[in-house]
Order: sequence, then C-alpha cells, then structure tokens
Amino acid sequence: MHPFSHTRARTVEDAVCAIAQGGPGARFMAGGTTLYDLMKLNIETPNRVVDITGLEELDRIDTSGRSELVFGALARMSDVAEHPQIVAEYPALSESLWRAASQQLRNMATLGGNLLQRTRCAYFRGGEPFACNKRDLGSGCAAQQGIDRGHALLGGSDSCIAVYPGDLAVALVAFDAMIDIQGPDGQRTIAVEELHREPGKTPNIETTLMPGELILRIRVPKTAIGRASTYHKIRDRESYAFALASAAVALDMDGDTVRTARIAIGGLATRPWRARAAEQVLENRAFTPQTAREAGDAALLGARPGHHNAFRVELGARTVADALMIAKQRA
Ligand code: SF4
Repeated sequence: MHPFSHTRARTVEDAVCAIAQGGPGARFMAGGTTLYDLMKLNIETPNRVVDITGLEELDRIDTSGRSELVFGALARMSDVAEHPQIVAEYPALSESLWRAASQQLRNMATLGGNLLQRTRCAYFRGGEPFACNKRDLGSGCAAQQGIDRGHALLGGSDSCIAVYPGDLAVALVAFDAMIDIQGPDGQRTIAVEELHREPGKTPNIETTLMPGELILRIRVPKTAIGRASTYHKIRDRESYAFALASAAVALDMDGDTVRTARIAIGGLATRPWRARAAEQVLENRAFTPQTAREAGDAALLGARPGHHNAFRVELGARTVADALMIAKQRA
C-alpha cells in the first residue's frame, strides 16, 4: 500500500490547482475504473488523488444545440449510450459505449476517463519482471519477443507496440469530435484525433495533454451522416472483452453511390486510427460488397505484423467491410 492524500475538488479551477500543487505524482480521479485498477496492480502509485466527481458542471449532456452535441467529461458512459437521440441519430457513438464494458462499469465510468484509459498489454500490467518502456522508459519491450497476439499492427515502434484499448475514441475520431481542456495556463481545444500519441521513442507519454490538464467536455459536430453509422467490434468472446479489431464507420449515400465515408479503426493500432485512404476508396463510387472490402484492405495499409498477430490484418479488413455493410443498411 502506497500512502496518498485524497482531495475533493469543488470547482474546475480547484481541481487544476490541486493537481499542480501535487506535482507529477498527482492524478485526477473520476469514475475510478481505470485508476484504482492500476493502483491495485502498483502500476499507478499516485501521491495525491484529486477527486473530481463533485464537479456538476462537467456531467451534462446537451444535444439541443444547432451545430454540436456536447458531453461533459464526467457524463457516465451508460447515460450517453442510452440517450434516445444518440441511439437514433449517432448509433456508432451509442454502440461504441455499450460494447465497451459491462453495465456496472458503464454506470461508473465517465467519458473523459474512458478516453484516457491505458493499454491492456499484459507485460505493462504484469509489472516486474517484464521489461516495459511504457512503465519504465529504457527497460525494453517484453512484448516484441513475447506473445504479441493482441498487439498493434499500425503505429508501433521499436520501443512499444501496445494497442490503444478504447472504443469511444475511435467513434469520436470518425466524427471529427473535439475536446475542451483546462490547464494551469487556461483553456484550449484540440481534435480527439490529436489527443493520443504514437509511442515513438517515448511510449511513456501517451497523450498530448500537458501536465495538470483536465478534459472538460467533448464536442461532436452534428451531422446527418450519423444515422447511417455503426461501431462494429470483434473480440475473443462476445461479452465485454477488448477488441481484436473494430471499426467506426458512417456513410452518406446518393442512391447507390457513396458521397462521403468516415472510417476509423480500433484494436489494431497504438492510437485511434482514422483510415482516410479507405474513405477515399469509397467516395464517388458505387457501394458494393467488393468496394467495401477494398476499403477494408486500404484501412490496413502499412500494417506490420509481429509473431502471432498476422491473422488480424485479414480480420481488420473484414471488420471494416462488415461495418460498412451494416452502415449501408441504415442509409
Ligand atoms: Fe510495454 Fe508497450 Fe512493450 Fe507492452 S508493448 S511491454 S506496453 S513497451
């Protein structure tokens, strides 16, 4: 047991200030479903936990605006997944949430925390004696000589091939969502696509958040393309496992011709992966099972299989193609 202090923040400014005072060992705590999990494994050993669950200004869901959906970072996964307007008009968002975790977890976990969940790489979570550059930079990467069945085919480096495990972020990237962030120096806004980093030589740095920054809200541009969308997730077991491959797709059709396609893939890369080459394969072409499959192949362009994960190149391409067929039914 590592001792830590627990502070309950009353305002966003309080929270950001408390984190700054705590230094690099301080952590925000929302639903706790990732942080406490990693504390029990001794992967996270904070000296200060700043509890932000009381920040009511961050738990709102607002779908009434003309141009965007707004989700507070503390909105619960279950509340967004079951929201009637999201279910009807943005099924990919709803499905990415309810396929992500059990009901109990969805009732506790927040959207902001979900975006920041850390990898499920067993060597990362297993601690000593496994070498892991993400836990201990410079120690090596046990996965590259070990069992890499679930590791990344896209975006990896010699230092790390861990998959980004989330689902929601993949759907948000497909919809060009943005996040508002508060830090010690004020507020800024970035695209969700810019939030997660590829590992490069510093896999210990997972996001572009600066020290002490807090995600305030997620903003999704409203678009008619949302109705013809889906989040398709393939996993080892049907019930609440992490993705072997997933795809968030949306289609805008003119008869049988694709006007616009949005495709992002999950479970295959070191970060949520927008597949623009796959989108271009479809645009201004007739939609057929064959063009859907061509898009699937394009989504996996550049894949670098390791020892045990080559089967997921084909699986990923099929997952994208199947997702497109589902979305087409909704167009
Ligand atoms: Fe660590 Fe990344 Fe290697 Fe897994 S893949 S052992 S997280 S460095």
